[in-house]
Amino acid sequence: MNRRDLFKVAGVSVAAATLTACTASTAGNALGGITSRSANDLYPKGSKKRLVVVGGGIGGMSIASNINEAYGDQVEVIVLEQNSRFHACPGSNILLTKTASEYVKESKATSTWIFDYNKKQSEYNIITNCTVVGGDVKNKVLHTTQGDIAYDTLVVATGIAHDAQSQFPTWDQSKLRRLKYETPSAMMADAGEEWSIMSERWENLIRQAKKNPQKAYQIVINATPKTNLKGGKTLRRCPPAAGERTTVLASRIKKENLRNLKIKFMTELDGSLGSKHGAFKQSWESLGYCKDILKPTASDIIEPIFNARIKDVDFDKKVITYSQNKLNSDLEVVGSTMKAIAYNEAIIMVYQKTPAVVGKLFGDKVKLSAGSFECLNFKDHFILGDSQTTHQLPPSGSMAMSIAGIMTDEVIGSLTGKKRISDYTKASNTCFSLVGENPNEAISVSHTFTLNKGIVKGKGNVPKNAQGVYRDGGIADAQAAWIYSIGALYGNFGTVEEGGVLSS
Ligand SMILES: Cc1cc2nc3c(=O)[nH]c(=O)nc-3n(C[C@H](O)[C@H](O)[C@H](O)COP(=O)(O)OP(=O)(O)OC[C@H]3O[C@@H](n4cnc5c(N)ncnc54)[C@H](O)[C@@H]3O)c2cc1C
Repeated sequence: MNRRDLFKVAGVSVAAATLTACTASTAGNALGGITSRSANDLYPKGSKKRLVVVGGGIGGMSIASNINEAYGDQVEVIVLEQNSRFHACPGSNILLTKTASEYVKESKATSTWIFDYNKKQSEYNIITNCTVVGGDVKNKVLHTTQGDIAYDTLVVATGIAHDAQSQFPTWDQSKLRRLKYETPSAMMADAGEEWSIMSERWENLIRQAKKNPQKAYQIVINATPKTNLKGGKTLRRCPPAAGERTTVLASRIKKENLRNLKIKFMTELDGSLGSKHGAFKQSWESLGYCKDILKPTASDIIEPIFNARIKDVDFDKKVITYSQNKLNSDLEVVGSTMKAIAYNEAIIMVYQKTPAVVGKLFGDKVKLSAGSFECLNFKDHFILGDSQTTHQLPPSGSMAMSIAGIMTDEVIGSLTGKKRISDYTKASNTCFSLVGENPNEAISVSHTFTLNKGIVKGKGNVPKNAQGVYRDGGIADAQAAWIYSIGALYGNFGTVEEGGVLSS
């Protein structure tokens, strides 16, 4: 019996089932108003083995597609996704570099990087607007805002969540909410909500700077801190994202010849731009965004502020208070001064954390088995993508896709009861960052992987050409091709060369 047959037994069509599911969630309190629970509330389980994937992001859609392609005739694949559409962060920064009219001209680039799930519904079931709130992993049942659902094998791929509360512990909820609407970081999968706010604010800033050429404007952007207030490591999705965003904003400012609009790039590091430092530094200096990052001048578009950490924000007065460390010649911190900087707009990168649902399912200290993505104490349960913290992998979309490819064997082993071992040292990751103007250029970092005491670890390399130049049009083409492969996960086919359309 295939998935469609199962729907017939249940007496509903695929479309109707999805619609019912959506309607139920909008009615909802935390548990969607469900009063009695049964493992079949959300979706009846037939005799087929069932894989449930939590999270329809890059990792989740990759593993769902892989298993459906390889074993769809024997296995039922269901994705549970809290949003109704997916906004892909990778590549989306390009939209900040262009004017709307440029996009109209460049049909190949017309993209919102927003994907609907409906194109994939004919292949496997994706239940949208469905948030997993917990579960009974011993009995293999998930609790969702639309009811309970049973499974045989579970993959949790819930990405990251913001953790502004840990960064600004004295702020109340209403102040924390202002980060999202007034200084959005647009770093997580929220169907593009924060991204749209950020982009609108940016376009408005450009309009103001154009209208008032005599008035000085500035936008502050910070790199996600590597350490938290207690000195522990923070989870950081796509560490070069802040550098990329700063670069594309600078390219737009240069293109529009806006001498009265400047960017302050704040980082806690000393003289370093962080991930892909050498490549960003060279690109900024050679493109004229900042001719010497250690000695910025008033004519530069970007001014880096090193050794700096945001401490507070006055959203009404538009002032950021930050601490700046003083270092001695041995690079030891010997003091710290509090400073303030006014902004017209700010993009504040906040700490990130694993979404709470992972802890609710497996406990806060969940670990994966040695050399595996299966949970150590929970057989048939896997964690994929940015939500996993056992292996030392760069949290990137490319990484999530690659691990999903290798993990397919392990997951099939779980579904068929015949253990299969996956070799994760064969993983690949290339994380791109746009740096160019016209034609577009990009830089990248690629990783190789080793296994040490059961932990898969990545080591990065930032490629440059024989002349020592990092940015390259070929890398931008490779990035575009990769972004099209994200589109394919959501049923959007085509290539850059064919002028394929990326958005749904
Ligand atoms: C600006 C920016 C640029 C980037 N550029 C690159 C790049 O060039 N290359 C690259 O490789 N990566 C890049 N990344 C990183 C990449 O986007 C992420 O690493 C990738 O999306 C991780 O995939 P994931 O599946 O783990 O999480 P996500 O893609 O975030 O997917 C998680 C999904 O889970 C859903 N979810 C969460 N909780 C629940 C729940 N309780 N119930 C149901 N659903 C839930 C979410 O709605 C989401 O759809 C970039 C990121 C940013 C922000």
